[in-house]
Amino acid sequence: MAAHPEPSGILSFEEARAVVEDHASRLRPKGRELLGLLDSSGRVLAEPIHADRDFPPFPRAARDGYAVLAADLGVLPATLEVIGEARAGAAEIPPVTAGKTVAIMTGAAVPSGADAVVMVEHTSRAGRRVQVTRGVSAGDNIVPMGAEGKRGEQLLPSGTRLSYVEIALAASAGRSRLVVHAKPGVAVLSTGDEVVDVDMPPGPNQIRNSNSYSLATQIQAAGGEPVLLPIAPDEPRRLRELLMEGLDADLLLIAGGVSIGKYDLVEQALAEMEAEFLFTGALIQPGKPIVFGQVPCGAGAPAREAAPAVRHRKYFFGLPGNPISTMVTFELFARPVIEALAGMAARKLAFVHTKLKTEIRTKTGLKRFLPARLSGEFERSGVELVRWQGSGDIGAVARSNCYIVVPPDREKIEAGEWVPVLLR
Ligand code: AMP
Ligand code: MG
Repeated sequence: MAAHPEPSGILSFEEARAVVEDHASRLRPKGRELLGLLDSSGRVLAEPIHADRDFPPFPRAARDGYAVLAADLGVLPATLEVIGEARAGAAEIPPVTAGKTVAIMTGAAVPSGADAVVMVEHTSRAGRRVQVTRGVSAGDNIVPMGAEGKRGEQLLPSGTRLSYVEIALAASAGRSRLVVHAKPGVAVLSTGDEVVDVDMPPGPNQIRNSNSYSLATQIQAAGGEPVLLPIAPDEPRRLRELLMEGLDADLLLIAGGVSIGKYDLVEQALAEMEAEFLFTGALIQPGKPIVFGQVPCGAGAPAREAAPAVRHRKYFFGLPGNPISTMVTFELFARPVIEALAGMAARKLAFVHTKLKTEIRTKTGLKRFLPARLSGEFERSGVELVRWQGSGDIGAVARSNCYIVVPPDREKIEAGEWVPVLLR
């Protein structure tokens, strides 16, 4: 597949995703901050983390038992003299010589001379003597010094998102403060005359703005800082004003107004701002009218604080306004751009395969991302669609926990087939 499909138009899901990934790969984060270890949770490393010493820093006992010379256990049972004890953290541990042993606890440093640890389960102790009933090979139950990482080795590359495992690794390397990337500001502009904000009483034919809030939450989860703009009416001048304001951020997300209705003015307003449309739709459901493009910053979009790599243009997405379409198109297309602006290393969509519990019938032609519920555990798990009234039905999606992905050439998927599922 070409990296640059035709510059505008309606693309397949894969083509549209490739366009987004290609543009995202050229984006750079805009700055760095030094944060305390816990404040770094969820942030993206702007420096690699190296091992400050060998991991483990000493040969570590992996079991409770006795540190021995494996050669002493050639004839079983073997009786050894217990000359001391090695506790985790002990400063001094007697060396082991032929015929002798040291009682040892998990996590303790293996005494010099010993080359294996016999598990306590295979011994019986009487005073200073221990009888061993099972042999060992050299190296058994010992993690050698440096086996998990050598001093100076890279433990985490720059661009890693910090979750609990990475925070633990940084702590183990003595890093109480970390250099992380600044969060990109992502503007959210909801459009539509019918849309009113959450603390206004809606008229009988009005609906409350939910998209700004789902998007803000998704932006935070992707590592960005949401900037909520006022709702734009279906009126060109005010819409243009708010679009300009949104282009001050590192990325602009517009929700609504991108389909082909009479009052869908977003594309027109953007075109007047010399926008280049990279695509104007994708063959997916929900979310077919998704728009991705860029606006030259000279055209009313000053990039005051932008990094050099993004100074000459700003990206925007026009997300379809139906709430589920907005949510799904964000995850499929906007997320990789935000992650790139946040300094994260690029990654593919993560999915699992699981068994379909109830057959699915659809029409061909679109790749579908249908709200579904994954239930059961491990080998007994399965997935089925939730009932929904289409892409306005937020309640149905709240009862779901994933999306089943149906390829565009399938009319029917039988119960029992394995299907790809995107978790949410
Ligand atoms: P549009 O993409 O503007 O044609 O909107 C499609 C549907 O999504 C319409 O039913 C809108 O009322 C609804 N919608 C648009 N914007 C929002 C919003 N901010 N919050 C909730 N629903 C919206
Ligand atoms: Mg609208």
